[in-house]
Formats: sequence, C-alpha cells, structure tokens
Amino acid sequence: MQPPDDAPACGSDDPEVAAVRAASGMGPTSAPIASVASPVDHARIERAVREILLAVGENPDREGLLQTPARVARMYAELFSGLHQDPRIHLRTAFTEKYDEVVLVRDIAFHSVCEHHLLPFMGRAHIGYIPDGRVLGLSKLGRIVEVVSRRPQVQERLTETVADLLVEELGAKGVAVVVEAVHTCMTIRGIRKPGSECVTSSMKGLFRSNVSSRAEVLSLIYGRRSS
Ligand SMILES: [Zn+2]
Repeated sequence: MQPPDDAPACGSDDPEVAAVRAASGMGPTSAPIASVASPVDHARIERAVREILLAVGENPDREGLLQTPARVARMYAELFSGLHQDPRIHLRTAFTEKYDEVVLVRDIAFHSVCEHHLLPFMGRAHIGYIPDGRVLGLSKLGRIVEVVSRRPQVQERLTETVADLLVEELGAKGVAVVVEAVHTCMTIRGIRKPGSECVTSSMKGLFRSNVSSRAEVLSLIYGRRSS
C-alpha cells in the first residue's frame, strides 16, 4: 500500500500511515538491516533521472544538465549508503563498565531522506540509556544514527530502530531516543509550513515503566535549553 501523494512529512498524525504500520507490525526489528554490501547501480539511476528530466519538460542534453544524471547517481549512492551497512557493528565495541546511571548524548546532528517524497529531513537525535554492565563509546551512538538515517526513512522508524538496537544489542536497562527534525517535504511543498518540527520519541525498559526515570532523562534532554 502506497502512501497518498500528498502524504504528510511526519506520519505521526497520519492515521493511514499509523494503520499501515500497525497492520504490518512494522517495528524496528522488521526494518531492513542489510549486512551484505550490494553495489548501487549508477547507470540505472542515470537513466531514470534522464527520464524524469524529459518527463517534466526539460532537455537533458542541454549543457547545464549533461552531468546531472551522473551527479544524482553519486548523490543517491551516498545518501542511501546505510542500506548496505549494518549498524550493529558499532555496538559490538561495547565494553564492560560498572556504571548504572543515565548516559546521554544530546544533539546528534543527522540528515535523512523521507521515503514518501525522497526529500531530505534533518535534525537532531538525543539518545539516553541506562547500561546493564556494558557501555558504548560515545561516538558510536552518532555512528549508529548515521547508518540508520542514510536510508529511505520515516522519522518514527528511525527513532524506533535506534532504540531497539540499544535494547537488543547492548542490553541496556532503559533506552530513550528523542528525534527532532524539519522535513523539507513539509516546508517547501504541500502544506508549506516553514519552521515546523516533528518530534518523535521511543522509550524502552526503565524509561517506559518508571515515570521518574523518564522524567529524569527528558529533563536531561530538554533541561538546559535556552529556547
Ligand atoms: Zn515526505
């Protein structure tokens, strides 16, 4: 089932998207986690981009557009490179440490591509977790977000996938992931709401079951903000 052409950027308030996700049991565990590298077919992208240019009434043979199909092919190979990477390799470097308080990394910048319009959405991810004997190098959280975001995505799945990886692969006792993003498919087309931001969150383990733990991690995420 395809989302409608005018699908909103942020599926959270879209009952159709929610219904599809619910019906398919679409969760982070069912998200594709490719581990086998498969090369991107640049020539095929180039042919397709040329077709799009013709279809919109352009002349792909004029000077300014001659290199565009090849450029777009390289761009997609980069933007979707996460399809051919397994984020779990960054979790295998976890090490043993007796620390059982909240670890939080805020403001992890990312950019991704909305799978409904193939337009970019970008923002910041905040990741907090309570270790259960194993902690992760702080830069690895950024690596995980990068791999997962470099795929055709919806923000909800990105959020959920990162949270589930930390539960399943790191065995964290609690995981909180908050993602804030601006979707260009909402700001430059369709309803054109510049400045609107989508916020998604996923709370697992102690952050889901324990109200005060959740309040603590949210205050750590939002606490010292001036705006
Ligand atoms: Zn979109």
